[in-house]
Amino acid sequence: RTVYVNGDYLPEDQATVSVFDRGFLMADGVYEVVSVLGGKLIDFEGHMIRLKRSLSELSIANPLSDDDYLEAHRALVDRNAITDGLVYLQVTRGNPGDRDFAYPPAETAPTVVMFTQAKPGLADAPAARSGWSVVSVPDLRWGRRDIKTVQLLYPSMAKMEAKARGADDAWMVEEGRVTEGTSNNAYIVRGNTIITRELSHDILHGITRAAVLRFAREAQMQVEERSFTIEEAQSADEAFVTSASAFVMPVVRIDGVPVGQGGVGPVATRLREIYLEESLKTAV
Ligand code: PMP
Repeated sequence: RTVYVNGDYLPEDQATVSVFDRGFLMADGVYEVVSVLGGKLIDFEGHMIRLKRSLSELSIANPLSDDDYLEAHRALVDRNAITDGLVYLQVTRGNPGDRDFAYPPAETAPTVVMFTQAKPGLADAPAARSGWSVVSVPDLRWGRRDIKTVQLLYPSMAKMEAKARGADDAWMVEEGRVTEGTSNNAYIVRGNTIITRELSHDILHGITRAAVLRFAREAQMQVEERSFTIEEAQSADEAFVTSASAFVMPVVRIDGVPVGQGGVGPVATRLREIYLEESLKTAV
């Protein structure tokens, strides 16, 4: 693979970052993941808007223009011949030359790293036809989950616990109510109504979430932005999750209990179709 580090395109085994990089020592950095379908970038603009927000919440100067980011995304897709897959982008506070809790001087250059992952057939993942099973775990993350930091240890632990319990993913629960999945936003469906947690510091403001809710409203579905319990989800008609790489993924079991009829439901199926169709129209 060819990867990007601070303006250079290098073979992955020649790309390096300092041991003093704040991303490595402090998880002091943010990231974005953009899907590639048919060689095009899905929801690119939304991901750039959130990247700038995450950087600004952490007072990291944005090192590149939107055009630079776009050019680098396209160059990597091209050089790695990615038809379907994703582009990972990470910006950290850079290398102050030593370890210190205090932020380094503002002129310290952020580190920008980008790489691709090929995922042939990404849009027709077999899991979309069978659905995921999820298990609930307590949400033990920090209190600014709206900032997309590279601090992903707890979601990793939750994912491992889900796998150990024979499930595909975990839904995290705080004060008795679902926050989100380890790397996706969580939804339930009751009749013609789609229910998903409201935006706050408690969850990541999913780019796919924003698009899916817009398409749902356009398709005359009702949208309720509120939290729900595991019990309400288990007795809902359907459940699903959204993310840039899973798109709309049905959830068919929660803590071993089948949701609705226990199979992939019509609302999740329809929203997945609409999302894939509409987001391809605005892909760059
Ligand atoms: N929540 C969390 C915790 C995530 O990590 C992600 C994916 N990065 C999402 C939600 C979904 O966000 P998006 O639709 O922008 O990929």
